Amino acid sequence: MALTEQQLAEIEEQRSRSAVTRRATVPALEELLFTPVPLLDHGFVRVIDYMGDDAAIVQAARVSYGRGTKKVSEDAGLIRYLICHRHSTPFEMCEIKFHVKLPIFVARQWIRHRTANVNEYSARYSILDREFYIPEAEHLAAQSRANHQGRGDVLEGAEAAHVLDLLREDATRNYDHYAEMLNEDGTGAVVDPTRQGLARELARMNLSLNFYTQWYWKTDLHNLLHFLSLRADAHAQYEIRVYADAMIEMLKAWVPATYQAFMDYRLGAVNLSAQMLAVVRRMIGGEVVEQAGSGLSKREWGELMGVLGRG
Ligand SMILES: Cc1cc2nc3c(=O)[nH]c(=O)nc-3n(C[C@H](O)[C@H](O)[C@H](O)COP(=O)(O)OP(=O)(O)OC[C@H]3O[C@@H](n4cnc5c(N)ncnc54)[C@H](O)[C@@H]3O)c2cc1C
Repeated sequence: MALTEQQLAEIEEQRSRSAVTRRATVPALEELLFTPVPLLDHGFVRVIDYMGDDAAIVQAARVSYGRGTKKVSEDAGLIRYLICHRHSTPFEMCEIKFHVKLPIFVARQWIRHRTANVNEYSARYSILDREFYIPEAEHLAAQSRANHQGRGDVLEGAEAAHVLDLLREDATRNYDHYAEMLNEDGTGAVVDPTRQGLARELARMNLSLNFYTQWYWKTDLHNLLHFLSLRADAHAQYEIRVYADAMIEMLKAWVPATYQAFMDYRLGAVNLSAQMLAVVRRMIGGEVVEQAGSGLSKREWGELMGVLGRG
């Protein structure tokens, strides 16, 4: 995460300011506000703004005049009930805004989450930095043979070194050509006065998907939980999961009761079909159940055994 002196000074300046407000604020999130959490080799996520807290969810659920219930434990109990029974609208009353710097291939997965407001850095207007993602050696994995969407064993030795060389060489060459086509240096000054230079909106098409982009991403708490449940899940790609994991820590600081209910009822919970539940009931009853005769397909059986720790 290479922030310039000026960017760091701007963040410090933002953090040095405070405002008097009648609205609810959360000291633990105020402490994190504006500070980037570094992710991958050049990325980050930081909270820019937020609205509401755990009490605002309770207040909305009860449509009350005051701050919800009197006791924190009662608020937490109601929040657990709401999450467990998928009563979602009280969570839509809270909002949060992030500033995210992420590789373009991660952004392509992230943007599929339509229930957010996005404003992306314009590479039509500005010149992108020479910043591209190169995975750490331990994340350089082979294609999984079992899962077409997943990774297998980590590449090793000469093969790993060769892959890293290719990734670095391609991105470096692409950026060199991008800069050459633009015919501008980092300050916008013309490099070769005999050439016009290609428009920024066209020159960028040469860049590979591991180049970094940035956006402001604002969503409500209900949709944030949906995003986190999909992208912090083990099935999600490592490179988006690290962002989701960092955002979960921010969620914990912001709305601790909601965070706990989310971890218990959503992220740490499993979904059993009616047939799976029937198998579990038969097993608890002492019956030895095999996949054949269980009513489950091989895939479903494998998933259930994995959940039960019998895989
Ligand atoms: C592990 C994983 C693998 C994936 N693989 C692929 C893949 O191979 N190919 C691919 O294309 N995508 C893939 N996706 C993306 C996935 O299909 C979703 O597009 C993405 O997760 C966003 O989810 P969402 O639509 O629920 O979220 P959001 O867009 O935030 O929507 C949230 C909810 O709002 C509702 N909603 C939003 N917009 C509409 C609408 N227009 N109409 C009706 N309801 C709406 C739906 O209930 C939706 O669940 C993958 C996602 C994950 C997590």
